[in-house]
Amino acid sequence: MIRIEDVIAKVEVNRPSPDIDLIRRAYLFSALHHRGQKRASGEPYLVHPLEVADILADMRLDEVSVATGLLHDVVEDTLVDLDTIKSYFGDEITSLVDGLTKIAHISNLSKEKQQAENVRKMVLAMITDVRVVLIKLADRLHNMRTMKFLKPEKRARISQETLDIYAPIAHRLGMGKLRSELEDLAFQNLHPDEYKRLAKEVDARRPELEATLDKIQATIRARLTENDVPFVAVEGRVKRLYSLWKKLKRQKITMEQVYDLIAARIITPNERKYCYLTLSVIHDTWTPVPERFKDWIAIPRDNLYQSLHTSVVGDGGQAFEVQIRTEEMHQVAEEGVAAHWKYKEKKLGSHEHDESLDELRKTVEKLLLPLVEDNQGDDDSENFVESLKLDLFPKDVYAFTPMGKVIQLPRGASPIDFAYAIHSEVGDSCTGAKINGRIVPLKTELQNGNVVEILTTTNSKPSRDWLNHVVTAKARNRIRHWISQQQRIDSIELGRKLLEKESDRFRVSAKKLINDETEMKRIANEYGLGRPEDLLASIGYGKTLPRNVLSKFLGAEKFAELDPEGRKETRIESGMKAVKKFIGLGEDAIVVKGVDNFLTTRARCCNPLRGEDIVGYISLGKGIVVHNKRCKNVAQLMINKDRIVDVEWAKSDQKEIQSVRLLATTENRTGMLAGITNAIAEIKTGIRDARANVSRDDRGLIEVTVEVFDKKHLDKVVGSIAQVPGVIAVERIHA
Ligand code: MN
Repeated sequence: MIRIEDVIAKVEVNRPSPDIDLIRRAYLFSALHHRGQKRASGEPYLVHPLEVADILADMRLDEVSVATGLLHDVVEDTLVDLDTIKSYFGDEITSLVDGLTKIAHISNLSKEKQQAENVRKMVLAMITDVRVVLIKLADRLHNMRTMKFLKPEKRARISQETLDIYAPIAHRLGMGKLRSELEDLAFQNLHPDEYKRLAKEVDARRPELEATLDKIQATIRARLTENDVPFVAVEGRVKRLYSLWKKLKRQKITMEQVYDLIAARIITPNERKYCYLTLSVIHDTWTPVPERFKDWIAIPRDNLYQSLHTSVVGDGGQAFEVQIRTEEMHQVAEEGVAAHWKYKEKKLGSHEHDESLDELRKTVEKLLLPLVEDNQGDDDSENFVESLKLDLFPKDVYAFTPMGKVIQLPRGASPIDFAYAIHSEVGDSCTGAKINGRIVPLKTELQNGNVVEILTTTNSKPSRDWLNHVVTAKARNRIRHWISQQQRIDSIELGRKLLEKESDRFRVSAKKLINDETEMKRIANEYGLGRPEDLLASIGYGKTLPRNVLSKFLGAEKFAELDPEGRKETRIESGMKAVKKFIGLGEDAIVVKGVDNFLTTRARCCNPLRGEDIVGYISLGKGIVVHNKRCKNVAQLMINKDRIVDVEWAKSDQKEIQSVRLLATTENRTGMLAGITNAIAEIKTGIRDARANVSRDDRGLIEVTVEVFDKKHLDKVVGSIAQVPGVIAVERIHA
């Protein structure tokens, strides 16, 4: 078993003046809390965090990363919580452990392969510190190395996840060595039979391949020496099994046709001219395959990999690859981002700002960005710079269903968006939501990693108000569609009522008219409308006059005969004008008092008072609902301009009394309530109710309900209250 002293020894070699005490404390803490736990292999659990710390020390990461490696499973797998970690190890390690615990949580949730892409994005979205990725990769590497004790299904699942998520991340970070090992281990565990078959095939040829490689290497050394081209090392390798397997499968070729089954690698001193000198010697020795030359030095791969690749045909006709790179490039190829880690003397106790960490973060962001970009290949550099300025993943948020399915939404999305993303019907019948088990308002903004449960009720309907809380087109369109559908139903119903009303006045059987499909259809067609419902809807929307419909139904002669306007019934006539004006949308104003109260109701939300500016809205069963123009709901209703009608107060001799609630804010002193009620009584105004309260900021709050005739009257009441000494403000309470 590896010992902590071995890890510490590596850190002491690799880092300047490391905080060894921190590593020791982390070790003791981990040992204490994992005490008694065993791995699947039967070994003490502590072996795992120790090995992870060792991998991190090999990566030459700082002591904070190594200490976190020792602590990475403590919150996930023991009773220790983050607060405890914080009290022992401070904010920096706590946030790293927190990040790792969250990723472990995602990993446990996601089981569906097709979501790999989303899970990968999500893992990345949760990373606030680049070291979290590196520690996670070290953790995964050790788990992959020791997974033979797990059940086959679990091995397969973890291996698939490694191929889908962690190997691509390692690749993007340029960590070639770690990625190769992860891939080969995953291949072995995921497809054991194919792995065995391929391994057997390669092993059978290995002595021959290695002999060839030895010969090639010897020739290279001799030729370089002859030509006075310096080199640091010449190596040989047989292609790794996973990448060989992928190549055979993808290109449907045999092993003999693989150009890079064997490869020689030449490491040159740290000047790129040596690479090109070496290349010319190689091409002078063997015949190059024309299309196989790649200059990744002049144009580095986007994970910063640099090397010259060329394929040549060897003596026996066997093609092989030659890779040429400097020592520095080689280190980057093997270790990737970890090689970019710059060592800086860290002043004791100054953890706030570490420039080398910032630099590393920038590099990592640049490297990982293609993994989360939607439009792959579309090199929008402006966009790229823009996204670097914000955080790494500014656009998306990833949330889960309780079953672990990942739902990707734009930032700012709410549970309503989430519900519609699952299914339109879930959205339509959504009545509430739970985030991480807690009931939340539907307008709550979702955060990365939220587990969202949508509560639905069979008969519930979308609300217009939802439009203010959704950001996805799908949700918005569905809600709009639903509203317009609903409005059509309302309009048909209202149109039917208006037509019935008008028929009554003409003493015509409304039933006979409306139930006569053919006749209704004929009239509808005359208006350029298709079906009888369209005609009713048009009446409901106020676009078609029921009177005109009747005229078409009855014919000119009969219509004139039955027309109540011609019968000079004055009382009805004045009522009729109201109806006419109401329906005649373009005309100036309508009178609120219709033939009877069927046509108008006061909106309960704002309860408009005679004299106030008003606006009408056509609504099912309520006729025109009259709102105060300043009512906050009016702005919402304006979306459907079709149903908005101009209205104004009809002249009326009869004074109608209306109750209005007023709130006076006053200084907190005795006698305020009496002062106010006296002021109201003095102007001979009725008081229905009055009550006093004290606000949190020590103001008097006096609510009175007064009886007024109109706005002018109300203004007078408000004015007289405002003059009472001690009154700070008076306002009308709506609803
Ligand atoms: Mn672990």
